[in-house]
Amino acid sequence: MFGQCPYINDVVKPCTSYVKGGFCSRPDLFRCLEYIKVHEPAISFSAIKDFTQCHRKYWYAWGQGIELIEKSRALRLGSMADQILSCLHDSRNVGLNPTPEEQYTKMINAEIEKTIDPEDSDSVGDLDLWKMKALFDGYIELDRHTLKGITQHEFRWNEVEYPKLHGYIDLTLREDKFGDEFKYTNNPDWYSERWNMNDQLSAYFIGMPDLEQFRVICLVPPALKMKKNETITKFYARMREDVIQRSITAYFITTTFWRSEFDLEAYKRKAKMVSEEIMHYIVQDPIKLADPFYQNLSACYSPYECDFIHICRSGVMPENLYKKRLPR
Ligand code: SF4
Ligand code: SF4
Repeated sequence: MFGQCPYINDVVKPCTSYVKGGFCSRPDLFRCLEYIKVHEPAISFSAIKDFTQCHRKYWYAWGQGIELIEKSRALRLGSMADQILSCLHDSRNVGLNPTPEEQYTKMINAEIEKTIDPEDSDSVGDLDLWKMKALFDGYIELDRHTLKGITQHEFRWNEVEYPKLHGYIDLTLREDKFGDEFKYTNNPDWYSERWNMNDQLSAYFIGMPDLEQFRVICLVPPALKMKKNETITKFYARMREDVIQRSITAYFITTTFWRSEFDLEAYKRKAKMVSEEIMHYIVQDPIKLADPFYQNLSACYSPYECDFIHICRSGVMPENLYKKRLPR
């Protein structure tokens, strides 16, 4: 049965290691165990997803707050695309000098510049960044960026007898009645299926009660290859032209979903069950918390390699690969 947190120092209330919001500053913990004992943990769609994939994954990511120092290439490109979209679509950026379009251009050119080898006159830089530039330059040319709203819109769902649900929506529009989720991906078919988007969009519809309609917009980087003897300027121009010509069918794949398509009560019950399970595991044994948060080895490489594979395979946390994240 759960005793007191073994590390508690309650000479100072609530505890010298306590960080506002239910966090702990100890290097081996992220969430405060005593806080979770009293309050159900606030959870997000991503935390629920991690917990249902593998309990250990949840514990590493959300209990101990561990993350990779160096993100995967796909994640780095995805977060750069998110940053560009936030800059272009945010209504709070209208009227800024430099304009959002100028800020984006400066940013992408600087990123490409960093990848060009100054010692090599043939070096053209990272082609994936050129693809991103062609895609977003086409996006702006087609005026898709002129839609303005609130980007990274934070929501909090507080309903009696349910866990607190917390998250961010990429873009909300027209008094929060419409929302957009952007995916920078080579696999738009996956995100166009309601089945695959069910949990994420259910969380958004629950968190934002006025939301009626949600669009999932997949931005697909060009798959064109650079031809022999083609200069980077010509390759870039060819990609950009292709983006403009085949924008809707190949590059900006949009699927619209409506609130009525989702069983929100079922997702609320799922969130409740997950949060109760987490509390149950935490009260089992505050010393060996990794035990109740057991591993699911069939989730290590499917659908992609888990961030924590180096810890699970070696049994220790390599300090050159991982760090503890800060409470958000
Ligand atoms: S988990 Fe909570 S009680 Fe334990 S040391 Fe950290 S802040 Fe203190
Ligand atoms: S590597 Fe496998 S067992 Fe370890 S946390 Fe990830 S999914 Fe779970």
